[in-house]
Amino acid sequence: MAGKSMYDVIVIGGGVTGTGTARDCAMRGLNTLLVDKRDFCGGTTGTCMGMIHGGLRYLLHDVDTTRISCIDSGYIQRIAPHLLFRIPFLTIVTKDSSFPIDFYETYMEAYDRFVHLKGGKKHTRLSRDEVLEIEPGVSPNIVGAVTTDEWGINPFRLCAVNALSASEHGADVRNHCLVREFLKDSAGNVQGVAVENTLTGEVSEETARITFIAAGPWTPALAARAGVEVRMRPAKGINIFLDRRITNYAVVAMAVDGRQVVAMPYENATMIGCTDDDYYGDLDNVTATNDEVEYLLQALERVFPTIRQARIMRVMAGVRPTLYEWKPYEDDLSREYEIYDHKNLHGVDGLLSIAGGKLAMYRLMAEHATDAVCRKLGVDVACRTHEEPLPGGDEAVDEDAVADEYNAPRYVVRRLAYRHGSRCRRILDMIREDPALGALVCRCEPVTEAEIRYVIRHEMARTLDDLRRRTRVGSGPCQGARCNFLAAAILADELNLAPGQALAASAEFLQQRWKGKAPILRGDNLAQEELNQAIYNLAGNYPEVAL
Ligand SMILES: Cc1cc2nc3c(=O)[nH]c(=O)nc-3n(C[C@H](O)[C@H](O)[C@H](O)COP(=O)(O)OP(=O)(O)OC[C@H]3O[C@@H](n4cnc5c(N)ncnc54)[C@H](O)[C@@H]3O)c2cc1C
Repeated sequence: MAGKSMYDVIVIGGGVTGTGTARDCAMRGLNTLLVDKRDFCGGTTGTCMGMIHGGLRYLLHDVDTTRISCIDSGYIQRIAPHLLFRIPFLTIVTKDSSFPIDFYETYMEAYDRFVHLKGGKKHTRLSRDEVLEIEPGVSPNIVGAVTTDEWGINPFRLCAVNALSASEHGADVRNHCLVREFLKDSAGNVQGVAVENTLTGEVSEETARITFIAAGPWTPALAARAGVEVRMRPAKGINIFLDRRITNYAVVAMAVDGRQVVAMPYENATMIGCTDDDYYGDLDNVTATNDEVEYLLQALERVFPTIRQARIMRVMAGVRPTLYEWKPYEDDLSREYEIYDHKNLHGVDGLLSIAGGKLAMYRLMAEHATDAVCRKLGVDVACRTHEEPLPGGDEAVDEDAVADEYNAPRYVVRRLAYRHGSRCRRILDMIREDPALGALVCRCEPVTEAEIRYVIRHEMARTLDDLRRRTRVGSGPCQGARCNFLAAAILADELNLAPGQALAASAEFLQQRWKGKAPILRGDNLAQEELNQAIYNLAGNYPEVAL
């Protein structure tokens, strides 16, 4: 067991809530430790659609959530401009839609009151012909559409740069560190945690004045280990990824139960999501079912008839850490959040936790969480996370000029600038010094060897799945069939892994990819998977990932 260290605050959970909170705590001068049992963005945040919208759908039940989300979306856009994608939504109205187009337009007029807070444009009403002109794949059998102007963000990079910023402000930041136990004094107050590094097996005890649980849907179970109760109503959601872009805009359709679902361009792919169902299963093994996939396809097919012609390359499933409420339909559950001081609630001092919320207001949640920590510690320092850019967000990149300066392909610079902002130059400098590092490791997503080495050296990537989250290596149509061996070799080289460890890393990565493919295997997908299996077995001899 390693020796004890003393922190002001330990933040448990490296999702968007925990990384945002650790950043804020560190920026306010608190001696901070951030731990995650997997990786930053390895939980629910890594399965979300990344919309930092104002929560149009919450307008009916939860106007505050809409307003707060819009304000925070505006701040997030300012501090991480490089990670954003702007995406107009088309809410398609058909003859059998629940309401006439005038109703949707009136609804959007109400939403228009908030959109300026997040730098969005007011809605536009489009006729049938106008919709077909800009989105030719939509069924001609429609009445028209109403637009909304939304923003999305890369959730993986958002967590990575929040963790990085926390570290650059002095925090001790550790992924692959599982909290096993809470350390307590004789009165039962929490004094820290016992953590295990799941890659090395090393166990250490870390003490702190405040321990803050930001473990998403795992929070109730962790709180119970600390002897307190946090109630949630976890709700599972899935997203499907098609192997190419099939729409120009985000196309909103109505599902069989009246819920709204959406298909939208996302990186080189199309994302379709999402579902929302009460979840009672294993949080460490959340998988999608065929029925859930069918539910989404059926909904989109009604407005986008050719949707089944594209290949589904992957399904992602996660669990929302929603606040507990008895009775409402899942979709109507509040997206508000609560911060609990367990001294007031359960007489256990030294422990705070957070439940609920959403990515779109993560910064505000983190600010309020840090305010609560500071109050307990008697620290009076103002929050600056709405003003200080996240790493890479300090300066706009002129991609053409940078491509010329480094004599690099524009598509590579474009992707590097999207993921790393102004820090893309650090990676391009590596290529300038050693041109061999400019080789593409992943061809589906243009990821260079330099970027892989950079995120291992500077962003704590320790596994192939960490590399996928930081760079999108293995996220494209081949789902790692071509790049995973090469990426494993680079990982092994950087981390000094033995050949057996590199092979194990590669097998583990393929196993994770398999989880996302299993629910969609039929027809052409099955043939594609058989080809993949042949490649794996020939090149890597992995019996454990056989069909
Ligand atoms: C399908 C889907 C789509 C969504 N789309 C959107 C959207 O478009 N916009 C939006 O605003 N919101 C969206 N959400 C909601 C949003 O994703 C969540 O509200 C948010 O990501 C929760 O973040 P978190 O940090 O609280 O939890 P998580 O991301 O789950 O982070 C918790 C972390 O705690 C770690 N952890 C757990 N136990 C331990 C332990 N014992 N020791 C150490 N670490 C531990 C986990 O590994 C995990 O990384 C969506 C959710 C889903 C499921």
